[in-house]
Amino acid sequence: MAKQGIRRRAQQQVEDVSGSGRPADVEVLQSLVTEMLLALGEKPGRHGLLKTPERVAKALAFMTQGYQRDIDHLLNGALFPIEYDEMVIVKDIDFFSMCEHHLLPFFGKVHVGYLPNKKVVGLSKIPRIVDTFARRLQVQERLTVQIAETLKSKLNAHGVGVVVEARHLCMMMRGVEKQNTVAVSSSMLGACRSQPQTRLEFLKLIRRGSVGDSD
Ligand SMILES: [Zn+2]
Repeated sequence: MAKQGIRRRAQQQVEDVSGSGRPADVEVLQSLVTEMLLALGEKPGRHGLLKTPERVAKALAFMTQGYQRDIDHLLNGALFPIEYDEMVIVKDIDFFSMCEHHLLPFFGKVHVGYLPNKKVVGLSKIPRIVDTFARRLQVQERLTVQIAETLKSKLNAHGVGVVVEARHLCMMMRGVEKQNTVAVSSSMLGACRSQPQTRLEFLKLIRRGSVGDSD
């Protein structure tokens, strides 16, 4: 990602992380999109727009399906007892979310690390936890904290570190129009917060080149 960056520490309190549990109302969305097209000065009846309300409604329902996901259900059967106390890192997890201020996408990478405390989670579950929170209306800081707090509490981990790097279309397409700005947020919990060495190890591990890279 680009050099220019905004670094923000995610300290926002985590609110209720459970979703509504019900799917988006596609029919209502559809009629609202028709009204929006009218309000924008478009003609919803013209050929190219005929199926647009339906498409947009379905796309929105897909992009906010995280409200229907339940973390406990997701982790059910995926926690394993283990005697392993080195840091577990999953980095470069792609995510796509939508900012709750403009309903425009923000997207990028999430890097996660945790220090296990007698149990680990199946590695494939970590991107799914990220997706669960990303596919809701979000602000980047809250997304970061929700991922970190969830891992900390569900795994009872000694420490958790989460770094999110993202580009926001609301910044790139409008307002400040900073095309190359990457917003970076982080949440460090437990040993990752209290022990500088642990935090450094996490940051070093997520910065290291991918497997197969020359460095
Ligand atoms: Zn925004």
